[in-house]
Amino acid sequence: MTEDKKGMAIGIDLGTTYSCVAVWQQQHNRVQIIHNDQGNNTTPSCVAFTEHERLIGDAAKNQAASNPENTIFDAKRLIGRKYSDPFVQKDKMLWPFKVVAGVKDKPIISVKYKGQEKSLCAEEISSMVLSKMRDIAEAYLQKPVKNAVVTVPAYFNDSQRKATMDAGAIIGLNVIRIINEPTAAAIAYGLDTRNDCVGERNIFVFDFGGGTFDVSILTIENKVFQVKATAGNTHLGGEDIDDRMMNYFVEEMKRKRKVDIGGNPRALRRLRSACEKAKRTLSHAVTANIEVDNLFQDIDLCSSMTRAKFEEINMELFEECMETVDRCLKDAKMDKSSVHDVVLVGGSSRIPKMQQLLEDFFNGKDLCKSLNPDEAVAYGAAVQAALLTEGIKNVPDLVLKDVTPLSLGVSVQGDLMNVVIPRNTTIPITKKQVIETLEDDQYSVWLPVCEGERAKGSDNNLLGSITISGLPPAPRGYSFDLTFTIDENGILSVSAEDKVTGNWEEVIISNNKGRLSKAEISKMIKEAENYKSEDEKFLKKTNAMNDLDYHVYKIGKALKREDISSKLCSKEKEDIMDKISRVTDILDRRDEMEDIVAIEYFLKDLKAIDEQIMVLEKVGKRKRES
Ligand code: ADP
Ligand code: MG
Repeated sequence: MTEDKKGMAIGIDLGTTYSCVAVWQQQHNRVQIIHNDQGNNTTPSCVAFTEHERLIGDAAKNQAASNPENTIFDAKRLIGRKYSDPFVQKDKMLWPFKVVAGVKDKPIISVKYKGQEKSLCAEEISSMVLSKMRDIAEAYLQKPVKNAVVTVPAYFNDSQRKATMDAGAIIGLNVIRIINEPTAAAIAYGLDTRNDCVGERNIFVFDFGGGTFDVSILTIENKVFQVKATAGNTHLGGEDIDDRMMNYFVEEMKRKRKVDIGGNPRALRRLRSACEKAKRTLSHAVTANIEVDNLFQDIDLCSSMTRAKFEEINMELFEECMETVDRCLKDAKMDKSSVHDVVLVGGSSRIPKMQQLLEDFFNGKDLCKSLNPDEAVAYGAAVQAALLTEGIKNVPDLVLKDVTPLSLGVSVQGDLMNVVIPRNTTIPITKKQVIETLEDDQYSVWLPVCEGERAKGSDNNLLGSITISGLPPAPRGYSFDLTFTIDENGILSVSAEDKVTGNWEEVIISNNKGRLSKAEISKMIKEAENYKSEDEKFLKKTNAMNDLDYHVYKIGKALKREDISSKLCSKEKEDIMDKISRVTDILDRRDEMEDIVAIEYFLKDLKAIDEQIMVLEKVGKRKRES
């Protein structure tokens, strides 16, 4: 990776709501978090356009109340996505600024700047935030900065990562590496260099930020970082806590002052920033005052909130976080006792109650919180930047690996999802499975390739299909190999090979074409949970049906054999033929058949017949042998 070795580089945590910049100080051998011109460690990822100027960071956020249509935030939710992405469509409704469809379905933000309409894409907004972070670093370092390591969420796909690099390119900032946020946090704590555990080290990263909540499980072994599982909620963060506090004070104003400020956007925005301030105070004090002069109709808000009240009104949100923690561990098939480190990330994880719940969950484990959680990601990015900077020695390269977010497989007989690579498998990976024909002399097999967690193939996302043909004449059950491969870039290829004839087919399914976004993924996982019982029923029925089908085939074959047929009296034969015809009828109507009990009844019957035939076979064999 020598081409990466460039001049001095900074680390930037480009957040959804706040960004942070840090640099490795060679003279002191440590990371410095760089404060902005307001003296804050983080800077709002916010850009505003006015009649006269463009504002970035605190200045932009501070005037948001009076200029909502032209104050842009959340660009990270848009970057690398299409306008028609359902995730974008949903977020669009919540934004006070205008987003429209541009060429190639790219989302375009429309603002009024110096009296004129101006169109911007998400990369441009992010580039403005990056330029602000670079300015902050340059002011501190007193020299120009050309290179940066920028972090992204672990679930960001290829196009979101590329778009983030483009954002740097727009302002001439060379993004020398994109790394995952949870990985950066683990690096910040030096967890990659600890030797107090043999073999794999399991790290749980809890990132509770401004607008999103992300948990990830990483493992480190021999300096190799692997993201084993991710879970989260793209709309759960500090802003939801602010919302609840606001509601509380709106209600209080109604009760005590007999006014409803609910319909006044300006009053609400002023109340919001007062609440956010009080919330921060409550992370270190047990009570916080909240005062807003002239909030509404000459009425001042002059109140307070205790930490206990704060915890009470937000408990639901905290509990939701904990449920996600539990789910992520289950996904990774990991017991909480095998987690070596729990790392706190994100401003909202400073909340004492949140920390306590997490500590209790991990049975009193000490959390990694010696660094400020809203600085940990930038800290790790700065360490990574130093690792990639020429002149700093003894720094081995870190290799980062990823996992598949959804199970991948093919839809087989009865529309059954046959999983080849389960979700959360580390990539790159190759997995082989043996597939059998369903009919005698079957010439070709067509298999839809799907991703998702549903039991029914067609309930999952169709990625493509593969056909293998030219199979030699053979009875049902002729087998061939099906191979799934996902490379380092997440590109899936599927091949089928008939070893006997040497016939071979391959399809390549690329990451960006027809694949799902994170929102769709979480939706599908949620859906899968909801429909779990439905799926179980389907599984039971389809397996029984396929079993029936197999027995009909087997018995039909046996009856044609003279050695068996001759041993059955005509009544017996008639009975069997009768059952076979009734079962065939059921099989023909398999979609309408809902009654699993009836299916199982016939299955029992056919199994008994099968056994009877096997006995006859054995008897015949013994006779022949003696
Ligand atoms: P992002 O989610 O954009 O990466 P951060 O991790 O910096 O951003 O988190 C920002 C959120 O953290 C904001 O909602 C902010 O109000 C909240 N926050 C910051 N400091 C504290 C604190 N001391 N106590 C509680 N919440 C805090
Ligand atoms: Mg963050």
